[in-house]
Amino acid sequence: MTSRSVDEHAEIVRQLLARALAPVGEGVLVPDALGRVLAADVHAPIDLPVFRNSQMDGYAVASASLREVPVSLPVTAIVAAGDAGPDRLEAGTAIKIMTGAPVPLGADCVVPVEDTDAGNDRVHIRVARRPGEFVRDRGSDVTSGTLLLAAGAELTARHLAMLAAVGLAEVPVLRRPRFAVIATGAELMPAGTALAPGQIFESNSVALAASVRANGGDAVLVDHSTDVPDRFRELLHRAVEGADVVITSGGVSMGDFEVVREVLTPLGGWFGHVAMQPGGPQGLTTVQGVPVLSFPGNPVSTLISFEVFARAELRRCAGLPPQPADYAPLTAPVESPSGKRQFLRGRRVAGGVTLESGPGSHLVAALARADVLLDIPEDVTTMQAGDDVRVWEL
Ligand code: AMP
Ligand code: MG
Repeated sequence: MTSRSVDEHAEIVRQLLARALAPVGEGVLVPDALGRVLAADVHAPIDLPVFRNSQMDGYAVASASLREVPVSLPVTAIVAAGDAGPDRLEAGTAIKIMTGAPVPLGADCVVPVEDTDAGNDRVHIRVARRPGEFVRDRGSDVTSGTLLLAAGAELTARHLAMLAAVGLAEVPVLRRPRFAVIATGAELMPAGTALAPGQIFESNSVALAASVRANGGDAVLVDHSTDVPDRFRELLHRAVEGADVVITSGGVSMGDFEVVREVLTPLGGWFGHVAMQPGGPQGLTTVQGVPVLSFPGNPVSTLISFEVFARAELRRCAGLPPQPADYAPLTAPVESPSGKRQFLRGRRVAGGVTLESGPGSHLVAALARADVLLDIPEDVTTMQAGDDVRVWEL
């Protein structure tokens, strides 16, 4: 059986994924663009506010009419939001105006209704106002042609509000890379069913699909297969039709019913051992031009394989920033076998990072409690409290 280091295998996978996941732009409707990454700069097509308008329910007047207050002025119009309103205010008069309605030429301030008797024919104004008070000028927020958002921005609700406000119906975004996920195993049953003896609930397809989505991809096919080669083959062929990348779980090690390995080896797949724990048995095949990454079936091994071999390249192609990796001090000593790079589950605590439960690759609840991976190099067998360990953010 061939063997590779983590870095060797990761580099081979990275090159395959980079080719399969070249960034492609597409237009999406603004209301559907939450979380998407802009493929191009977006400039304002109009000014905001679109026209000079009132910030208050009140009276649009010339501040010159309020030199002596209280004062009584004739009301010449009542203008609601959505009305065009008169073009011009006659000197010595007032227009009753609602929030968001256009402020006509000749008016330079708005007196809030609270400072008046709220009259409709004449208005009694008690408080003077300075020019510009409670008037929102055209273009005071954004002027037409300004850069609103640069390519690469990850769109939030606030960004969408701005894009909608300037009247954009559609924005250019990066297409989300399309992944298919196929879990394999005769023992697997979907959640919500009853388990017969020997069966377990299927969790890897759920975990992998969620990981794909959390890192900017779409899971276009998520299914599971028995260990019968024809069933796996059928799913595989559907998967490569619609996906940029296929991930399988299970069926890659040295047992008797290793369906993934059995089906993919004759198609030219590489199946071997990567010097890591968990996640040692790995496979990599190209089927009809589509990379098929085959991860081992233990739930922790599958998810760590995704972290180590797929996540960074998916994020890059989706236009998302790389996941942070740094060094942190261990709060307790750690043992590690030599010759294998260890990815231990850890948690950030006061003063550094600590181990989260044991090394077993079936410990899904411990993985759920972890928030980091501790990356212990192949040649390191013990680390002391206080030693800096490389940390991958989960
Ligand atoms: P395998 O890699 O197929 O030999 O599976 C290794 C271990 O992981 C076995 O205990 C399987 O039952 C378990 N396993 C494999 N696939 C899944 C899955 N999709 N969900 C949960 N457990 C799994
Ligand atoms: Mg299996």
